[in-house]
Amino acid sequence: MSKHQFQTEIGQLLQLMTHSLYSNKEIFLRELVSNASDALDKFNYLRLTDERFKDEDWSGKINIKLDKEDGSLTVSDNGIGMNEEDLMENLGTIAKSGTKAFMEQLTGDAKKDSNLIGQFGVGFYSVFMVADHVDVITKKAGEDQAYKFSTDGQGEYEIKPVVKESHGTVIYIKLKEDEKEFLDPWRVKEIVRKYSNHIAYPIMLHYEDVEFEGEEEERKEKKVQKSEQINEATALWTLPKSELKKEDYVEFYKTIAHDSEEPLTYIHNKVEGATEYTTLFYIPRTAPMDMYRADYQPGVKLYVKRVFITDDEKELLPVYLRFVRGIIDSEDLPLNVSREILQENRILANIRQHSVKKILEAIKKLEGEDRDRFTEQYNKVMKEGIYMDHLNKETLLEIVRYKSSLEEGMISLDDYISRADSEKKEIYYIVGEDEKILRNSPLLEAYKKAGIEVLIMDDKEIDTIVAPTIGEYKGWQFKDITTIEAPESKSEEEREEIAKAFEPLTKKLKEALGEEVKEVKVSTRLTESPSCVLKDASDPMAGMAEIFAQMGQEVPEIPLILEINPEHEVIKKLEKVEDEKLFGDMAHILLDGAKLAEGMEPKDKVSFAHRVADIAAKVL
Ligand code: ADP
Repeated sequence: MSKHQFQTEIGQLLQLMTHSLYSNKEIFLRELVSNASDALDKFNYLRLTDERFKDEDWSGKINIKLDKEDGSLTVSDNGIGMNEEDLMENLGTIAKSGTKAFMEQLTGDAKKDSNLIGQFGVGFYSVFMVADHVDVITKKAGEDQAYKFSTDGQGEYEIKPVVKESHGTVIYIKLKEDEKEFLDPWRVKEIVRKYSNHIAYPIMLHYEDVEFEGEEEERKEKKVQKSEQINEATALWTLPKSELKKEDYVEFYKTIAHDSEEPLTYIHNKVEGATEYTTLFYIPRTAPMDMYRADYQPGVKLYVKRVFITDDEKELLPVYLRFVRGIIDSEDLPLNVSREILQENRILANIRQHSVKKILEAIKKLEGEDRDRFTEQYNKVMKEGIYMDHLNKETLLEIVRYKSSLEEGMISLDDYISRADSEKKEIYYIVGEDEKILRNSPLLEAYKKAGIEVLIMDDKEIDTIVAPTIGEYKGWQFKDITTIEAPESKSEEEREEIAKAFEPLTKKLKEALGEEVKEVKVSTRLTESPSCVLKDASDPMAGMAEIFAQMGQEVPEIPLILEINPEHEVIKKLEKVEDEKLFGDMAHILLDGAKLAEGMEPKDKVSFAHRVADIAAKVL
């Protein structure tokens, strides 16, 4: 016998489970049944691919046994089973990287929190919401020794060798005193139907019942053992659409996605012909928590002729659709398909391509609240798609939403096009971090004045990379307003004339500011502000800076161009200033003020404050 400590996170998790996730305790059964089903899937696959198990007469089954006298519920399966190492690794540690994230996400809101169970592979531990003590008796297929893993969920567990005839796992749960409702056959049937009706294996319920026998006066109670199958045991996706109701799809989703919310939408598709396959996809209402982690868990399971193959293959759908949950079941792939084969398999590539089309079509059809929810949860990953999926770029551009300078909320590119200048066919945008700063940016002034709509792209990290690569949408060109001349600006000659007239001033400003700016120019884009700053788009580092920043590297400084507004009072008066100190102070204030307006910091904040104070003193 050996005693072990649970990994610290598990200790914490067990605490949480037992204390805060009480509103939805019944899901422990869903989690155990789902684990049993996975174990059966794995053995089924072995049987069909591994010589050692070929002759075994086997049909997968899940048993739930209720024992009122003992106060216990037992879930067993004849699946793949676990050996000692597996027990320690699977039940003694939380290997999955997301656990910490899971813990951080817990809010103390019991309903919300219980939705999170399972998303990070912590399903088994939900049993401690109802259990005082748990024994896992298990034997791995192909091995001789069976083991018993015992714990009361208090930080320690124990493993010892035991005798067990056949492979598979028995989970014996001694229920807490006030959780005896789970000994009621009706209650258990209700839970299984609710969550596990379309698990592909039969779930048998065994319990003791009382029957009466004899005539009225001398009726005697007689205890009888009952056994019945309590789920439908058909893989849901194999049923014709016409036989399935929305509830069926939703329940199945909850089982496979470990989610208590209804999905936003589902897409069930059967393809017959040269290649045959069935797909069933779901879009979760809430994005999976690990969506932005490099080691996210893929949500699509691959089956071949109803035999489970893998749930750990990221290539089944493009990366930007990593939030999709569901199933691909192919009739044509070989059962013993290896990872290498999967990755370059033409059949799978074909399925993948069609699946993406179907999923994107379904997204396009979302309306109203669902559509808003989709945008809120998935707009950013759709933008990744624009960058990565050239084949579907146009559809993805139809799907994404952007903020607009003309209104609150999000608009589509089609909205933009419908009200913009259809002669010019240009889509203007500005990228930055902070919506408010972008909306008030001096760079927008000329567009506002001319009533021209500009897209406010404030998912800076991704927009900086994606926006410049869009190029065009339905023949409309994307234009970054910080790199082009402002609208309705003056003619070339007029501009040259003004530039010339202001040359002494711009030169003097450049001298005063030295290396802090690359150039000082007369602006055509300003109406209200005296000055603005632009990053020098011609600088080779301009495009790279963001990428450097994202890689966590030192960002080289991109020289700024200061533009001044020749119509502004300050600029007009500045021309006449002779006091050198005053001129220098004003030059810096023009630069620092413009930086602040773009959400940048003055180079020297203290000097900035002093300069403003000095000038204020003069005026007052
Ligand atoms: P998840 O199922 O999300 O991976 P769990 O905590 O529910 O997380 O289970 C952890 C692991 O323990 C499973 O991934 C599986 O490898 C193993 N396991 C759990 N139940 C069984 C079972 N009935 N038979 C075989 N292995 C099991």
